[in-house]
Amino acid sequence: MSTVSYPDVQLFIDGVWREGHGHDGAAHQPIVNPATEEEIGTLAHASRADLDAALLAAEKGFATWRHVPAHERYKLMRKAAEILRERAEDIARIMTMEQGKPLPESRMETLAAADIIDWFAEEARRLYGRLIPARGAGVQQIVHKEPVGVVAAFTPWNFPINQAVRKISAALAAGCSIILKGPEETPASCAALVKAYEDAGLPKGVVNLVFGVPAEISQYLIPHPIVKKVTFTGSTAVGKQLAALAGAHMKRVTMELGGHAPAVVFEDADVDLAVKLLSGAKFRNAGQVCVSPTRFLVHEDIYSRFVDGFTEAVGQVKVGNGLEDGVRMGPLANSRRVDAMEALTADALSKGATLHAGGARIGNKGYFFQPTVLTDLAADSRILNEEPFGPIVPIMPFTSTEAVIEEANRLPYGLAAYAYTTSSARADEFARRVESGMISINHHGLALPEVPFGGIKDSGYGSEGGIEAMEAYVNTKFVTQLGV
Ligand code: NAD
Repeated sequence: MSTVSYPDVQLFIDGVWREGHGHDGAAHQPIVNPATEEEIGTLAHASRADLDAALLAAEKGFATWRHVPAHERYKLMRKAAEILRERAEDIARIMTMEQGKPLPESRMETLAAADIIDWFAEEARRLYGRLIPARGAGVQQIVHKEPVGVVAAFTPWNFPINQAVRKISAALAAGCSIILKGPEETPASCAALVKAYEDAGLPKGVVNLVFGVPAEISQYLIPHPIVKKVTFTGSTAVGKQLAALAGAHMKRVTMELGGHAPAVVFEDADVDLAVKLLSGAKFRNAGQVCVSPTRFLVHEDIYSRFVDGFTEAVGQVKVGNGLEDGVRMGPLANSRRVDAMEALTADALSKGATLHAGGARIGNKGYFFQPTVLTDLAADSRILNEEPFGPIVPIMPFTSTEAVIEEANRLPYGLAAYAYTTSSARADEFARRVESGMISINHHGLALPEVPFGGIKDSGYGSEGGIEAMEAYVNTKFVTQLGV
């Protein structure tokens, strides 16, 4: 077992780890362990001059990296993946200390990141153009795929490595360079990912990592002429602001935003399977997952059975410090989430909801909140309309397929949707009619490297998985030439 201690975190600009000059006199911020509320380290903040240095480094890095042959990019990326695997135990411990999730989840995230790097490394070798048969004799029509250039990426605290690795790796595979503004609250594991790339031999300036005041950094980087592509993961509200700014400067954009996934259990479902898988999925990362199942919609014929089974399963979720053995759910990542859970629960109860489990903060140290189950919810309860991003489960009955599909599509979100049914016709109908970027039926099979990952409607646009992810980092250039 790893005994690594938590590091202070610096900026990585032009191949050098260094302090930042900060903003308004603040060059550092404390990093807090959400399980203990202790300060475990400090984080360097970038100044405008530091961002300028990162921009110039990325411009220079792009000029180098775009000419590195795909096979060399592939080999270097595979090496970074191996380094990440070798360091997974240490990195997982650091991630749990800063983010709170149980150690096995941190380990899984780190190892999954290595798989994501491998996938994009392979895609680097398959970034094909094409030859289009011409109408005229002697004409050659060629489609080239060229890297878009310097990328500005913004990633959040819920998956400190996973959110970053998709952006960095797709950009590198395509031949782009990148400036990543990592998550200020969980920076060390994200920095460890960048370090793996550095130690694999990535040329200077190709990946740059900065931290600071998020709005200051995005306002500066997005309009900057050196930046050609913007990619953001976070809330819909912030995503809309950044997409508007990018639009004003005609920058390419990928937005991976919030969700409010319906989880529908039809009357013909395997109820035990639905209870087992949904209770497992809901409390992963304490519900702070954009594709977390959120609105539980259960057919009235099996409603009581499901609610009883689910409440019993929730009672078995051991909550505690993620470093301890057997803990299934850690603290929430920050105090804002605890406040949000308290407010959502109070709102639901004030409108007549019934509490089956949880409903309160645990203790007075650490950002712990009980796994919570609510029924009898009023339609205007905030939990049914806003992304909870936490361990609260609202369960509602439904009577007809028509009504449940309407409810599934009611909100402006469209990221993930889940269904449990033994009828393949019903599964097909659900998949066809539910407005969502991703649909998973009778299991939870999202987010593998080789499958598309992204939303529609207010959940954003663009994909961060599968072959679609590469498209976000390339320009299509068409060349037609008549041989003379
Ligand atoms: P938030 O909306 O302020 O921040 C979300 C993320 O966006 C953070 O990483 C933050 O650093 C970044 N951010 C905020 N303002 C920014 C700006 N102007 N420019 C660039 N980046 C900016 O709030 P929060 O309290 O951190 O999280 C609250 C909500 O965000 C959650 O309830 C959830 O809905 C959403 N969220 C979604 C994801 C996801 O995976 N899609 C991840 C984290 C948070």
